[in-house]
Amino acid sequence: MSRFWSPLIARLAPYTPGEQPRMANLVKLNTNENPFGPSPKVIEAIRGEIGDNLRLYPDPESEQLRQTIADYYGVTRDQIFVGNGSDEVLAHVFQALFQPGAPVLFPDITYSFYPVYCGLFGIEGKTVPLNDKYQIEPSDYAQPNGGVIFPNPNAPTGVAMELALIEQIVQANPDSVVVVDEAYVDFGTASAIALVDRYPNLLITQTLSKARSLAGLRVGLAVGHRDLIEALERVKNSFNSYPLDKLAQVGAQAAFEDEDWFEHTRQAVISERERLTGGLQKQGFDVLPSKANFVFTRHPAHAGETLALALRERGIIVRHFQKPRISEFLRITVGTPLQNDALLDALGDIV
Ligand SMILES: *Cc1c(COP(=O)(O)O)cnc(C)c1O
Repeated sequence: MSRFWSPLIARLAPYTPGEQPRMANLVKLNTNENPFGPSPKVIEAIRGEIGDNLRLYPDPESEQLRQTIADYYGVTRDQIFVGNGSDEVLAHVFQALFQPGAPVLFPDITYSFYPVYCGLFGIEGKTVPLNDKYQIEPSDYAQPNGGVIFPNPNAPTGVAMELALIEQIVQANPDSVVVVDEAYVDFGTASAIALVDRYPNLLITQTLSKARSLAGLRVGLAVGHRDLIEALERVKNSFNSYPLDKLAQVGAQAAFEDEDWFEHTRQAVISERERLTGGLQKQGFDVLPSKANFVFTRHPAHAGETLALALRERGIIVRHFQKPRISEFLRITVGTPLQNDALLDALGDIV
């Protein structure tokens, strides 16, 4: 705190990212990165872009990348927005598309960046409790609001929602924008992009950080009606008109073009998730049904915090949230087969 801080900054409660420790031989299962690397074609494309051209600004509109994504999803380029990670895309969404006068609704257990953006942009947020199976109840979102946002699958629970239920929320809110944050959708959930042409109030965000294994490149995107996309463009061009550098643009494009790599690594994560779930259940853990690249789990006889600390002593890092309703849980990222074995061995030891 300093007298030079603006009142807004003094009031903020910023997001706490999962730690990125620099220790060797760590089994790092705390931030949902992909254990399998990005496509070799992505690396090749980035290498090809490194040269004298880096003295020039990148394409401010990322036209080629947006066209590639539009073709991939069967929409038009003016329905695609790209940003420097989906966190930046979400920031623009909060600023551009959520209305004052009624609170923005999101689940009580969800991505903790949403309340942070409410604080940054002076938006009132209201949490809506998940039911006792940790699911989103669509009827709870039929109440006055300035916007709705939730991830599908939800984080940190991993629990997914059927498209028909999402559609109910969209239909119940014709006068506000409903945002579906699909950071983990590629690990086994149907995308609501299938609905965007029917609902002008529906916006989908996605990231290349998880299923496409490019957390370090920082690329996220949004898909929706062109009027929603134009609103995001207006914020972008009032904030940072070159959010994606040249390396990110070509790397992201190559990622969407290498369907084989995407399919192969995604399936490997899904099958490891199922194996990890089975291994945990054998040790007496409750595991919520996950459609993400992580599992959310608790043991009836061991506190979440104790387990997280005991794992850390063995060089394994998982995420534990000191929050109501979920403090007994661990969020464990699906790792490589070897990492998952190390985790299961360590937990077997501990419990
Ligand atoms: C990881 C994650 C993001 C952010 O992704 P970036 O593109 O890396 O900024 C957004 N939403 C949810 C729910 C996430 O888990």
